[in-house]
Amino acid sequence: MSPEVEKEDGDSPPRPAKHEVLLPFPGSLCHRCAAPPSYVATRTSIYIRCPLLPNKYPPQPVVTCRLFRPKEAVPQHPRADPSGA
Ligand code: SF4
Repeated sequence: MSPEVEKEDGDSPPRPAKHEVLLPFPGSLCHRCAAPPSYVATRTSIYIRCPLLPNKYPPQPVVTCRLFRPKEAVPQHPRADPSGA
C-alpha cells in the first residue's frame, strides 16, 4: 500500500498528508511535555517552540529540562496489568 500524500496542484511534487508529517527529534523530551510545546513549520524545517523558556527554541534534542512536566498519562484499566497483580 502506498503512503497517503497531498498534492497542491498538478505541477507540485506530492507531499505527505498532514497527519503523516514526522516530528523532528523523536527522542526529545518536549514531545512528552505538558508545557505544551508548539510546532512551527517552515518550508524546509519544523521547530519545537517552548512556551516556558525565555529563548523559546531550545537546542534539540532536549534530553533533560528542569521545567519538564509529563503530559497526563492515559489511565489504564486495572485488568490491563500483564502481571495479573
Ligand atoms: S519545558 Fe522543557 S521539556 Fe517542556 S517543552 Fe519546554 S524545553 Fe521542552
